[in-house]
Amino acid sequence: MERTLAIIKPDAVEKQFAGPIIQRIEAAGFRIRAMRRVHLSKAEAEGFYAVHRERPFFASLTAFMSSGPAVVMVLEADGAIRKWRDLMGATDPSKAPAGSIRADFGSNIERNATHGSDAPETAAFETGYFFAGVDLV
Ligand code: ATP
Ligand code: MG
Repeated sequence: MERTLAIIKPDAVEKQFAGPIIQRIEAAGFRIRAMRRVHLSKAEAEGFYAVHRERPFFASLTAFMSSGPAVVMVLEADGAIRKWRDLMGATDPSKAPAGSIRADFGSNIERNATHGSDAPETAAFETGYFFAGVDLV
């Protein structure tokens, strides 16, 4: 079993899409091993996205991610990292397949409703950023 970090981003939480997104996660067969609402500070968002600090969208992205509450979760399934990214669809909602989470709930390439880890190493870092081992139940 593999674990990945999922975030329901502030745009989707504000629009009250957390419920429908969690429903899709459970319907797809993931087990939710941890879940919490968080309102990140700018510094906390910068720490989370440190790998992107040289990207042109870094300031805007971290302002957005600290603009309101988000929901952070650890999802578990066989091949959870790939499986969750497939369920989300492409980063840009306009390029995500019909019926994917980002196509249905995202607004644009930045405000794209959800986040998912992209590799085992990032999943370990990102899970540890929000949850201690004792929190994963
Ligand atoms: P995530 O890491 O959130 O799961 P991703 O792996 O599909 O998404 P990344 O390239 O890691 O995409 O970018 C991280 C986040 O930065 C994106 O989810 C999006 O919110 C934002 N982002 C990515 N590209 C752009 C862009 N060109 N302009 C504005 N924001 C962007
Ligand atoms: Mg990414």
